[in-house]
Amino acid sequence: MAIVKNPLELMMDAYRGGYAIGAFNVNNMEISQAIVSAHAAKKAPVILQLSKGARKYADTNMLMAIIHALAKQYPEVPIIVHQDHGDSFETCKSAIEAGFNSVMIDASHENFENNVRITKEVVDYAHGKNVIVEAEIGQLGGIEEHVSVDEKNARLTDPDEAKKFVAQTKCDTLACAIGTSHGAYKFSSDGKVDVERVIVLTKILPNVPLVMHGSSSVPQEYVKVVNQYGGDLAGARGVDESTISEAVKYGVSKVNIDTDLRLVMTAMIRKVFMENPREFDPRKYLGPARDEIQKMVEHKIDVLNAAGKIRY
Ligand SMILES: [Zn+2]
Repeated sequence: MAIVKNPLELMMDAYRGGYAIGAFNVNNMEISQAIVSAHAAKKAPVILQLSKGARKYADTNMLMAIIHALAKQYPEVPIIVHQDHGDSFETCKSAIEAGFNSVMIDASHENFENNVRITKEVVDYAHGKNVIVEAEIGQLGGIEEHVSVDEKNARLTDPDEAKKFVAQTKCDTLACAIGTSHGAYKFSSDGKVDVERVIVLTKILPNVPLVMHGSSSVPQEYVKVVNQYGGDLAGARGVDESTISEAVKYGVSKVNIDTDLRLVMTAMIRKVFMENPREFDPRKYLGPARDEIQKMVEHKIDVLNAAGKIRY
């Protein structure tokens, strides 16, 4: 199965099956290994997503080589390779040329007409290559690489606008702003997730899998470890996992998780360094971090109701 030939079928399976596929950001070998082995253990399909920054940091071909190696090692796991927050037609085109089977074009900061025009250009190109397209309408708060939207300017997705947008662009999946934000400090003000909006969007957009960005839960046990071992993430807060499960029940089929991976990795490395100041073998701190990430990802798969969902 490996990198799937028909990613839309996988997304629609999730949509109809009442589960979500976790979309985890990959930047290096250890994180990629942990994510895919967790999905093999839980018999769940996975989306490996690469941001523009990750592609620059590790090199696109390097990450693709790692993904291909993992696809070979775990042939039973269906994999979607996704461009996270593609900022232009060129970024999406280069991803498709590198072998991605899914791209996000994020022109949500543009006005409606420009968002439609830019998204449509990517859709026309991608669909010709059997690649699916995620687009965004509305705007999340928080910070993620090029995305920096002041919380007060974040706009929740308007259902009527979303319906028009999907009809005009023919995008396959839709990232909607429902109150989550990127980063480790969500809901610094009085924000909360608008699950009601998911229900309305699902009703108005039948057969369009919804995507939830900024969906890390920022588990407090890991925040505690970071803070205990010399870090300072005081006040870090994420989305309750029960809220994520609820959103999945109502039609969210792709849930993006990046911050939690970073958090677990940092917590474990800090712990090893503080407990063993003489340790300097990278395998001795990256290894435990990899093990703990796998544990966390396996737990997320349960939160998304995706365990055992591989179809043979
Ligand atoms: Zn995002």
